[in-house]
Amino acid sequence: MAELLLAQNLTRHYQVSRGFLKGHATVKALNGVSFTLQPRRTLAVVGESGCGKSTLARQLTMIEPATSGTLAIDGVDVASARPDLVKQMRGKVQMVFQNPFASLNPRKQIVATLDEPLLMNTALSKAERLDKIKAIVAKVGLRPEHIHRYPHMFSGGQRQRVAIARAMILNPKIVVADEPVSALDVSIQAQILNLFMDLQEEFGTGYVFISHNLAVVEHVANDLLVMYLGSAVEYGDKARIYQKSLHPYTQALMSATPAIREEDRRIKIKIQGELPSPLNPPSGCTFHKRCPHANERCKSEVPQLREVDSRMVACHRAEEINV
Ligand code: SF4
Repeated sequence: MAELLLAQNLTRHYQVSRGFLKGHATVKALNGVSFTLQPRRTLAVVGESGCGKSTLARQLTMIEPATSGTLAIDGVDVASARPDLVKQMRGKVQMVFQNPFASLNPRKQIVATLDEPLLMNTALSKAERLDKIKAIVAKVGLRPEHIHRYPHMFSGGQRQRVAIARAMILNPKIVVADEPVSALDVSIQAQILNLFMDLQEEFGTGYVFISHNLAVVEHVANDLLVMYLGSAVEYGDKARIYQKSLHPYTQALMSATPAIREEDRRIKIKIQGELPSPLNPPSGCTFHKRCPHANERCKSEVPQLREVDSRMVACHRAEEINV
């Protein structure tokens, strides 16, 4: 199957000032991340705050360019494409944000919010645009009269339905959803996740689902990319990783996820300390100061992502500690 998205060694570094007369330092926010996404598939990206998830989202939505690497969207490498081509490709990738209230213009009726992308990206007539708006509003489970309301007149779940309608109205190839249900009541979360999945089935969209909530990820993802300090540490089929994760960081994240059923509960693995600063990352394996399995080699040698038990893992000791 053709790839909707191919990222190879995607890297994003920022130059930041150290202060007066102290020169500049480099923040390595994204460090050579590689993955693919197929139509009708969902790739979940997980990790702590500061692991590079949001930087990755900005790359995928072409808000900012990569420092190096390849980012091919629907076969076009946007990392090295001309600005006019990048602009053209932007319609193919849409974003759904965490907070639907902040992402919708409070002064605009929903009809105007949904009309904006059509006006900017299509040559449809006013009547054709209105037909499209009514159709997408129905698909996301809102009523026709809702298009004349303002964002404050909706509940949180309804506002996220509007945000999803705005993302889907151009029929994008890819939707990047950044914590799309974490601001919603638990009772509403499942409805919104089911809506995402129904729309994916209907339109064939590929999703990149950014979340810190592994229970949510388990519900929606096909593949899983676990990130730590700007790098991928485990990547592969979600079911396989949930059944048995191999990287100590993934294992710690999994063990911290509450489970309702007794048989799903895992022994808690406590990771020590805070996420290090990307301005001054530890040598060798960047996880070694927090890893319960670290040895001398881990302190000096960077582990490369390699195949172990049908997924990719960046750990020197993946086989040894998972016998
Ligand atoms: Fe832990 Fe070493 Fe594996 Fe890094 S390489 S995760 S420090 S065992």
